[in-house]
Amino acid sequence: MNNCIFCKIANKEVPSEIVYEDDKVLAFKDLDPHAPVHVLIIPKEHIDSIMDINEDNINILGHITTVVKKIAEEYNIDKEGFRLVNNCGKDGGQTVFHLHFHLLGGRAMTWPPG
Ligand code: AMP
Ligand code: ZN
Repeated sequence: MNNCIFCKIANKEVPSEIVYEDDKVLAFKDLDPHAPVHVLIIPKEHIDSIMDINEDNINILGHITTVVKKIAEEYNIDKEGFRLVNNCGKDGGQTVFHLHFHLLGGRAMTWPPG
């Protein structure tokens, strides 16, 4: 999609610190980390938000879950735990409208979120 920063990252037009890649998914470090581990996991295909998941693309969510597990193990946060966040829409705090999941770990998280 034109002018989507995460599409540009997926296409390597914009550099990022990639931590995992396969044909469907890219994971890279967040530019503005809020935890010792703060990785964004995106489908390479442009999907605006979780509201655009449908029966044709739902398999990507299962695949992203397996990628989250791999990254959590690689960064040794699988045992202590982590937080997986999806901000959806304006009130959800979404600022980049290309579906992404934040994987945050390496410190104890607080609850509730703001
Ligand atoms: P959200 O507010 O859930 O839409 O999250 C968007 C996230 O993308 C924020 O945490 C930003 O710090 C991050 N971000 C924006 N641009 C980049 C970039 N070029 N490389 C890495 N992370 C980015
Ligand atoms: Zn995009």
